[in-house]
Amino acid sequence: MPVTTWKDKALFTPGPLTTSRTVKQAMLRDLGSRDHEFIALIADVRRRLVEVAAADPDAYTAVLMQGSGTFAIESVIGSVIPPAGRLLVLVNGAYGERMVKIAQRLGIDVGELRTPENMPVAVDALDALLAADGAVTHVAVVHCETTTGLMNPVEEVGAVVARYDRSLIVDAMSSFGAVPVDLARWGVDYLISSANKCIEGVPGFAFVLARTVALLATKGYARSVSLDLLAQYEGLEKDGQFRFTPPVHAIMAFHQALLELEAEGGVAGRGARYRRNYEHTLQGMTALGFRPYLAEPDRGYIITSFHYPTHPNFDFQRFYQLLSDRGHVIYPGKLSHADCFRIGHIGRLERSDVESLLCSVRAVLAEMEVMI
Ligand SMILES: *Cc1c(COP(=O)(O)O)cnc(C)c1O
Repeated sequence: MPVTTWKDKALFTPGPLTTSRTVKQAMLRDLGSRDHEFIALIADVRRRLVEVAAADPDAYTAVLMQGSGTFAIESVIGSVIPPAGRLLVLVNGAYGERMVKIAQRLGIDVGELRTPENMPVAVDALDALLAADGAVTHVAVVHCETTTGLMNPVEEVGAVVARYDRSLIVDAMSSFGAVPVDLARWGVDYLISSANKCIEGVPGFAFVLARTVALLATKGYARSVSLDLLAQYEGLEKDGQFRFTPPVHAIMAFHQALLELEAEGGVAGRGARYRRNYEHTLQGMTALGFRPYLAEPDRGYIITSFHYPTHPNFDFQRFYQLLSDRGHVIYPGKLSHADCFRIGHIGRLERSDVESLLCSVRAVLAEMEVMI
């Protein structure tokens, strides 16, 4: 296949995402895991991640972990909560649920504070709960709940958690790199994200931005060898290397992706492009008759959930397949109470990609004879 004319389907998904040609090209090499060039690349990636977080490098450190985003979440939950600790997870979607499941499987004492999937996590209830439950040592929250696209109020959550002097864990998987964070002011001890979301790298590893002093105090807590966060940090600090086979190519691609993030104007520039994609998609879909699932104030610009049309001819599988045949990959819903599908706004997607998706949606609806 001649590389100059080839074009893959555009991924309007929550990840893995469409990446630039140059990010993919950065992988066309072989580098040994102990090669000086590779070790310098890892160091630069770690330094740049702290920079993307706008964090103080004397206070925060970046730890890279092999695997998908969930592996890094499991690494944090399994490594930083003391044997007698208790985790409280704020749940309003599938990714909050997943953190509960991880803690349960690891035998960690875990509680949940639930709100419906179309509501932000409950900050007042959290306040009351922490006042009543002195055993909670850690609170976990999802920044952008990718299940719906809802943005949780991490800053407010952080203020409450700090007032009760507990530790805060944030799953910022689908937002980091495109939505600004302020780790120190929000009181975040651990923030988790992955290579193949808003930084626009390829899958293969995830990373944790950790408050170094907090991480250093977790000696002996890890419940896993391969996912031991402190040991991974110590390895990277000692000789700059991963403890076990590193995802070399994914790191080379990620380094290039970080350069491209910087060239786009960092988090502000990337966030602005994603917001334009979101606004354009929303406007076009609404014009076609689709309704977004979330109320406007809770919606982010990462991914949007739309209700299925009620017309009897609408069949999601067929809708999905016909769009995919035309080169656009959308995403099914993951909601427990509503029939929705999702359209992502992240990855290397431009206005022309959104334009082309909207044209296809219109054509596919006509083909299915769906009136909305
Ligand atoms: C994508 C995502 C994850 C991790 O998913 P993986 O498939 O393990 O990479 C976790 N949390 C959120 C909010 C996500 O969007």
